Order: sequence, then structure tokens, then C-alpha cells
Amino acid sequence: MPEPRHILSLSGGKDSAALAVYLRDRVPEMEYVFHDTGHELPETYDYLDRLQALLGTEIVKTTDNLEDPFEHWLTIYGGMLPSNHRRWCTKMMKLRPFEDYVGDDPVVNYVGLRADERVREGYISTKPNITAVYPFQDDGLVKEDIVQILEESGLGMPPYLDWGRSRSGCYFCFYQQKVEWVRLKEAHPDLFEKAKRYEEVSARDGEAFYWCRTEPLAELERPERMAEIKAKAEAKENAPRRATRLVETLGGMDVAEEEREGCLICFL
Ligand code: SF4
Repeated sequence: MPEPRHILSLSGGKDSAALAVYLRDRVPEMEYVFHDTGHELPETYDYLDRLQALLGTEIVKTTDNLEDPFEHWLTIYGGMLPSNHRRWCTKMMKLRPFEDYVGDDPVVNYVGLRADERVREGYISTKPNITAVYPFQDDGLVKEDIVQILEESGLGMPPYLDWGRSRSGCYFCFYQQKVEWVRLKEAHPDLFEKAKRYEEVSARDGEAFYWCRTEPLAELERPERMAEIKAKAEAKENAPRRATRLVETLGGMDVAEEEREGCLICFL
């Protein structure tokens, strides 16, 4: 039996970045990979560049042979945009490149799930030659520890948090809350326009697809609607935790928390 390879998938999120820093000296043979959709946030690319410099090891882009992985797969899927219920994006642009990169070698896959999160299945590989391990859970590290690891390393937290995006992933990710769309429009109007364009093309081709399901971006970007969404989000942020849970239970959130957990490989 050959010795296993050690692989850590980076998403551009804080937890996988902190795990890379945490394990840098403990697992010197670690291979770092990033499954680039070609439509990540500019802050994510910048953050990964800085992480690569800190690690002193290349972060391999597993989708480099495709100029624009998202466009490539969108064409193959007949123009059908991905959503929570047809999540080909994660499968084809994150999971499959990871499994292709691994091949049939025995692999230890390091996952940045924290001790204060419940273990969830969310789209990690189940290939028999890949064994997932959870060092933060084993060592009892919670969110505060992750923040400390990142701050002490000099890398800091992912910069998209500064303008109110809650996590990594494609700029058009359908897991975003509506207020994150508003913030995307404010921080990156060009990317908002690109996402809106996908909706327009889909409507022209006969399917009215909305990234946030219930409302087209052309509606959401109206100034009065943006103000309304921001006010609602602010009220929720300021509400006591118990009241917030009630709002969620009554269906007051635009995307259920359960569904927002999304895919480990995109967001950790
Ligand atoms: S970040 Fe969102 S849109 Fe992008 S691959 Fe992951 S689930 Fe799909």
C-alpha cells in the first residue's frame, strides 16, 4: 500500500485558509488545490495569492485547462443555469476536478470544518480512496480560534467580508442572501451586471431564471427595493437571537438557513 497523499482544498474562505496555515509546518508534504470556476470574487483571487506566498508552496488550480470553466459547463448543460436544486456547478467545477486531480491514489483530504459546526455531508468526495479528516474538530478549534490563526499569521480574514459578503464562492452564487446581492451591486457593479445578464439571456431563451429565485436582479436593484432589503437585513442583525429564529421558522428569510449551508468545497 503506497503512502497516502495529503491534500487540502482551498475555497477562498476563512476556514480552509486557516487550516492551511495551521497545518503548514505539521504536514509539510501537503498539496494545496483550488477549483477555480473563473467567476470567483476578485478578493478571493487576491486572498489566495497572499496565502500562497505565506505557505511558500504553489496552490494548484485544478481547472486551469479550461479558459472559463463555468461557460464551458453552462454550454454543455444547454444554457441551464445552476441552482440549489440543479447544482451541477459544484459537481462539475469543484468536486469532479478534485477527484480527477486525486485519481486513484490513496489520499487524506483535510477539511476545515470547525468544532462549533455540525458535521454535514455537503459535497465532499465519497470516493473510497479518499479519507476526509477534520483537524479543527479533532482539536476543538472554534470560530474565535480560526480568526486568531489568521490574524496572527498576518493573512487576516478574507477581504470580501469588509463589504458584507458572508463567504467565498462565485459572485453569482444562488446561496447568497438578497442583502448580499445589494452589497455586490455596491461593491462590484460590473459583476452584478454580469449576473443580471445571465438572467436576461435565460429569459430570452425561454426560461425565466432568477439567481435569488423569487425576484429578478433587475427588480432587486431598484433603489427603493435595495433600501428595503438593507433595512430588513439590519433589523434582523439587530434583533435578539430568539426573535431571529422565530423569523426563520416563519419563513421570513429569503433563503432557508438549512439550504444556505451549501457545499463544503465551495465555502469552507
Ligand atoms: S459558489 Fe455557488 S454558484 Fe459557485 S460553484 Fe459553488 S454552489 Fe455553485
